[in-house]
Amino acid sequence: MSPVIPLRVEASACQDMPVLRERGQREVFCGLTGIIWLHRKIQDAFFLVVGSRTCAHLLQSAAGVMIFAEPRFATAIIDERDLAGLADANEELDKVVQRLLSRRPEIKLLFLVGSCPSEVIKLDLSRAATRLSAQFSPQVRVLNYSGSGIETTFTQGEDACLAALVPELPRAPQAAAEQPELLVVGTLADVVEDQFQRLFAELGVPVRFFPPRRAGDMPAIGPQTRYLLAQPFLADTARALDSRGAQRLAAPFPLGEEGTTAWLKAGASAFGVSEQRFEQVTAGPRERARSALARQRALLSSKSIFFFPDSQLEIPLARFVSRELGMRLTEVGTPYLHRQHLSEELALLPSGVQLSEGQHVEQQIDRCRSSRPDIVVCGLGLANPLEAEGLTTKWAIELVFTPIQGYEQAADLAELFSRPLNRRLRLAA
Ligand code: SF4
Repeated sequence: MSPVIPLRVEASACQDMPVLRERGQREVFCGLTGIIWLHRKIQDAFFLVVGSRTCAHLLQSAAGVMIFAEPRFATAIIDERDLAGLADANEELDKVVQRLLSRRPEIKLLFLVGSCPSEVIKLDLSRAATRLSAQFSPQVRVLNYSGSGIETTFTQGEDACLAALVPELPRAPQAAAEQPELLVVGTLADVVEDQFQRLFAELGVPVRFFPPRRAGDMPAIGPQTRYLLAQPFLADTARALDSRGAQRLAAPFPLGEEGTTAWLKAGASAFGVSEQRFEQVTAGPRERARSALARQRALLSSKSIFFFPDSQLEIPLARFVSRELGMRLTEVGTPYLHRQHLSEELALLPSGVQLSEGQHVEQQIDRCRSSRPDIVVCGLGLANPLEAEGLTTKWAIELVFTPIQGYEQAADLAELFSRPLNRRLRLAA
């Protein structure tokens, strides 16, 4: 076993928690993966990846059977002629977009998504987007962002996409008399969005969601906007919203009964909702979530769990499994630790927990082996080898694809951890 060599151990700014910072080989998907959930959310958007056959294969395999439908994503393949400079990649791209938009008139928003190959040949997709937008607006807006896997992790694709959309959002009226409005930021499954919409309506809080389901329904923003992040991986989007005058409401993320309550409470408090009203609206769903979680807690309590850095959901998940399910945290790895956005989460973690940021995969695997956790949350690339060594794993990406936020999903989220443990127990029996 190789020794653990922390490159830098530092105290968390908010909670004085030691953080093991590592740099080395990483095992993560790239930002193109976000297209899978983003294209389901914005129903008249199209994602055109400008990349290689590898990018096309990644998308097709991540999207599974979607390929039989007419998908709202595709890959414009950069081939050898483009790479050798024998063809003008911009001309080729214009032709592809022209063909696509004439065949698919329902598209209202087109994203040109950069990849490792487009970055390597320095294809300027932002100029291409400006040029194509001028040609096709107002019917179609064309934007660009990068989903490249160079130094990024897979949830950053959503962050880059939403950050590219922020400058396009209409300006909200700025008069002091204008009512503030709440904006929930981050892609949520429609079923979860509908539940939050209902709860905020009962609380009397005017709410919009970003991204919206339709390109023509973009929320207006300005200094009257208060926003709640629904996902912990939206640092660039938050920065872009701040620069438009919107104000972030600090809160834990809406995972589990406790996280959902604190998250809703942050929104309710900013809009002057009374304690009594908050109790009336949330008491029922909270109770339902608690009793559904009690069954899962009986299965998971005191089981140990190890998080490899992957989705950036690790810290909120660790808070949920330790506080609401009684699980023991052996290590909580995250690709990036955004101390400001995670401040409320860090405050809820048990003291002494081992946090790590970044990855040196070999060293982390050694630590995982030596701690022999009951369950490991990791990327697909690590899951099979760890299973072969007798460890029980959960794919981190499943936690992003599955509706897990809110009261009604709290027990489903817990079940994502109990299911693989049960399977392992049955196999061992
Ligand atoms: S963007 Fe890069 S990492 Fe992602 S599939 Fe394409 S080549 Fe691979």
